[in-house]
Amino acid sequence: METKIIRIDEQHIDQALIKEAGDVIRAGGLVAFPTETVYGLGGDALNPRSSEKIYRAKGRPSDNPLIVHIADMETLDAVVREVPESGRRLAERFWPGPLTMIFHKAGCVPEETTGGLDTVAVRMPSHPVARALIRAAGGYVAAPSANRSGRPSPTVAKYVTEDMDGRIEMILDGGDVEIGLESTIIDLTADEPMILRPGCITKQMLGEVLADVEEDCTMMRDDSGQAPKAPGMKYRHYAPRGDLTIVAGEEDRVVEYINTQAASDQNKNKKTGVIATDTSVAKYHVQVCRSAGNREDESTIARELYRILREFDDEQVEVIYAESFDTAGIGQAIMNRLLKAAGHKVVRV
Ligand code: AMP
Ligand code: MG
Repeated sequence: METKIIRIDEQHIDQALIKEAGDVIRAGGLVAFPTETVYGLGGDALNPRSSEKIYRAKGRPSDNPLIVHIADMETLDAVVREVPESGRRLAERFWPGPLTMIFHKAGCVPEETTGGLDTVAVRMPSHPVARALIRAAGGYVAAPSANRSGRPSPTVAKYVTEDMDGRIEMILDGGDVEIGLESTIIDLTADEPMILRPGCITKQMLGEVLADVEEDCTMMRDDSGQAPKAPGMKYRHYAPRGDLTIVAGEEDRVVEYINTQAASDQNKNKKTGVIATDTSVAKYHVQVCRSAGNREDESTIARELYRILREFDDEQVEVIYAESFDTAGIGQAIMNRLLKAAGHKVVRV
């Protein structure tokens, strides 16, 4: 299949292009598109054949449900059995934006989309290209991240093309995304609302709207005895090809440890890389060294993390060391992804 790659400017959206992309989805095809979190791989959420195609294109296990993307509040009722009061309040505060809510599903949502579950995950993205595309596609777009299963999610169109060229009908290139990590997921179907995946909308922010918010206890732990409540969270994820270790501790000790280890790796002819931060980056003597951003503003780190993991793959880095991050605020989401990418390999110094 030839993949059509189209550049699209979010400030001046070409409606003819959006219609063409919407028609591809309506006809059962797949279109990758930018959202404010990461690039999504979109198909018609109400067409079981489209969801099967998404799983095939990604190489994703079919028990890992897809998120249904909507653009307008009035369209929510058709895909869920009921919207609890908590859902209405969260939508009012955080939609459009990087929050996914899980509801009991309505009959029109095929089990192929929900990985066999009778619940459905729904998000209303804020990215203007995503919103225009969802409307043009009929209102319901199932869209996981547009990467091959297991790889870091794409935050620029170049990496969508790397993973999806020849597998899908179209890629809308809208430039760099804004947030860089996937949405926060909250389950509203249990007695207490529960966060299943951390993101840039934090527990504290959710707590300003809801009285009690719990967290899936498997989110930050390597607890193989217990299955995460979001089926996708159990898979190895976000992983670069190199062998990644997180090094936690006070900055100077971390730098010293990594420099020593990297010297030994490089002596063994292993290409070595470091994920550093603005204040530490100049202190490393390692072949490939990148600052992920500024610790004072961790959203900068969220935005860069996946791109750096991909760049290390481009440069065939074999051994990677990453600094560790504070788990307050968006740091929790950063650490959740890094821990998965590293298979929970952490050294404390
Ligand atoms: P992705 O689309 O790649 O961001 O992954 C979607 C995530 O949402 C995966 O971790 C899924 O397991 C999770 N998810 C989607 N639908 C549900 C659902 N109905 N119940 C629990 N988790 C879900
Ligand atoms: Mg994903």
